[in-house]
Amino acid sequence: MARATFTKSFTQQLPIPDDAIEAAVAVMRSGRLHRYNTAADAAGETADLEREFAAWQGQPYCLAVASGGQAMQIAMRASGVQPGDLVMTNGFTLAPVPGAIAGVGAKAVLIEITDDLVIDLDDLDRKAKATGARYLLLSHMRGHLCDMDRLMRIAAAHSMTIIEDCAHTMGARWNGKLSGSFGLAGCFSTQTYKHMNSGEGGLLTSDDPDFMARATILSGSYMLFDRHGAGPATEVYDDIKLDTPNCSARMDNLRAAILRPQLRALNQSIADWNARHDLVAEMLATNPAIHLPNRPEAELYVGSSIQFCLPHITPDAARGFIAHLAAVGVEVKWFGASMPVGFTSAHQSWRYIAAQALPQTDRILAGLFDMRLPLTFDLKDCALLADHILDAVAMLKQERE
Ligand SMILES: *Cc1c(COP(=O)(O)O)cnc(C)c1O
Repeated sequence: MARATFTKSFTQQLPIPDDAIEAAVAVMRSGRLHRYNTAADAAGETADLEREFAAWQGQPYCLAVASGGQAMQIAMRASGVQPGDLVMTNGFTLAPVPGAIAGVGAKAVLIEITDDLVIDLDDLDRKAKATGARYLLLSHMRGHLCDMDRLMRIAAAHSMTIIEDCAHTMGARWNGKLSGSFGLAGCFSTQTYKHMNSGEGGLLTSDDPDFMARATILSGSYMLFDRHGAGPATEVYDDIKLDTPNCSARMDNLRAAILRPQLRALNQSIADWNARHDLVAEMLATNPAIHLPNRPEAELYVGSSIQFCLPHITPDAARGFIAHLAAVGVEVKWFGASMPVGFTSAHQSWRYIAAQALPQTDRILAGLFDMRLPLTFDLKDCALLADHILDAVAMLKQERE
């Protein structure tokens, strides 16, 4: 049975919407690209974006920054992380996360993941106790939320500060509550491959005024912190403005202009992603050899990518599997490769942090595959992708027999 080769690109996002292009052109015509270079009667696109994202996220404070990685570094520093402090994070995440920990001079303590690809809360509890670490940079990696209720109980028991990496969960919820609003801070990315696209960019949210005042000065606000769209009251800055370094990681008005119309369309994008994700997931679920991570009822995810496991697959078979799929145009990534490829990243390749044994995570990653689902794919494309994957899994079985 000859199936059509898949010809669309896995890295092609939707074009920037026309209203966003018009807003960007208006910023360029004005020449006022720097966030503090605004007309007398206007807050400016960046401040407006902060106000709108704070409202969307249901948080009093939002700070727009240069990238998701900068949001995480600023959040750690503003929450009190000092050089040499221990910061726990998932053993399975992408390189900007351990990179952010290294960036603030802290030491990463890696926590195992479970077969459902979320942080292993037993291991977290154990390592918090054993190491005395008081910070958790929680990565909702590939859009999977752990049991947030149990996590918050563990955090309270250890007086743990949680910073959430929501690069893959903008718009996701646990029991109705948005990811990013559980911990002290939520960190979001608006880099091209995330849920809103400004090329580069980041957003940081919190309900803590002192934290947000420190974050704002760290982001490079000079003494213009009162020109933010969703910042704390001026008096909160009394000491903070002199005690906190300016680390220049601002967002500019051009990016903010591109993002505001995308934010208005975000709920529709989420519905569109989930229609694609759920179609592929339902088709893959028809083969019992494929393990799909469990999605608890409490979780409302954003299916901008899909993950599946082929437990016990050998490295040679995994390489053959992705090569076979690549030959029919299907770009599936394998997280078990010994060297990082493209955006993949295994903890062994983060040689700037102390090496750590994570046997459970390694076993899971050895059989973990991942596929992007950009909104440029329609439902027919998604069905074809799932059929190709099912074919390739069936071939694996034949090869074994
Ligand atoms: C993309 C990403 C980030 C950081 O985003 P940038 O804006 O690229 O710095 C953080 N965490 C994860 C898991 C990511 O995939």
